[in-house]
Amino acid sequence: MHVCRTKLEMRRVVTKLLQEGSLGFVPTMGALHEGHVALINKAVECNSNAVVSIFVNPAQFGNSSDLDNYPRSEAADFAILRKAGVKAVFVPNAGEIYSSDDETIVETTTLANIFHGQVRPGHFRGVTTVVARLFNIIPADRAYFGKKDYQQLAVIQKMVHDLHFPVKVEAVETVRDVDGLALSSRNALLSQPQRIAAPILNVALIKAELQLLSGANIEAAITTITNTIETEPLAELKAIDVVSADTFQLATGKPTGTICTMLSVQFGEVLLIDQKELTL
Ligand code: AMP
Repeated sequence: MHVCRTKLEMRRVVTKLLQEGSLGFVPTMGALHEGHVALINKAVECNSNAVVSIFVNPAQFGNSSDLDNYPRSEAADFAILRKAGVKAVFVPNAGEIYSSDDETIVETTTLANIFHGQVRPGHFRGVTTVVARLFNIIPADRAYFGKKDYQQLAVIQKMVHDLHFPVKVEAVETVRDVDGLALSSRNALLSQPQRIAAPILNVALIKAELQLLSGANIEAAITTITNTIETEPLAELKAIDVVSADTFQLATGKPTGTICTMLSVQFGEVLLIDQKELTL
């Protein structure tokens, strides 16, 4: 596996890999877990070659302590990538991606600032800005993103559409721990009591799902989620939004088709997010 720390090295490797056939790309912030591995396995299986980036993107963090505390585990990550059959990893430092005199940002002006974007101002602008830059360094045929970060997926799909990036965005289902907690690098930052409490997100989403399936309206399902999260003293509800999967518009009443409930809950310093897609 090539370990590329500069744009130049990565471009050279990618140019060679593209001559061998299709290229799959998985952008990550590292501290890899089975959720990332699901994306990576898809990229390896469905393309001639697969590459991964590991970059803890400062532009998508609201405060510097969150950025400083973000888990990092480069050696373990490389072992996972080698085992999965990844051909190259791009591990730039911030100076490879950003310059102090940069003027260009990429923002999906509406999508970035609604729903979870209101909880984390500037977050999605940081995501699109870095992913656009990564797509220009790694012009892959397919790029893989997790449904766990449902709004992020929608934001990336919109950016790719609007800016005519010649890449196909592939969505991958959420991978969970045995107790139902969606795997996340941030789970490592939870204290033991917080970790024990954290599956409440999945419990709340399942309760709401069952209610919706038995004919309840979205407002009742949101009340159920709110009440369930409130039973956990360590959890603070930050956002619940139910959207239509096709349009990403807010869903209300008794919709038909595929909807997604997106949930965001704070445990101390750690913000966890989860989602559940459901076809009615
Ligand atoms: P991150 O390193 O957190 O930026 O995540 C990199 C990619 O992995 C994103 O597309 C995430 O949506 C995806 N991802 C993170 N956790 C999971 C999970 N539990 N299941 C599936 N995909 C995930």
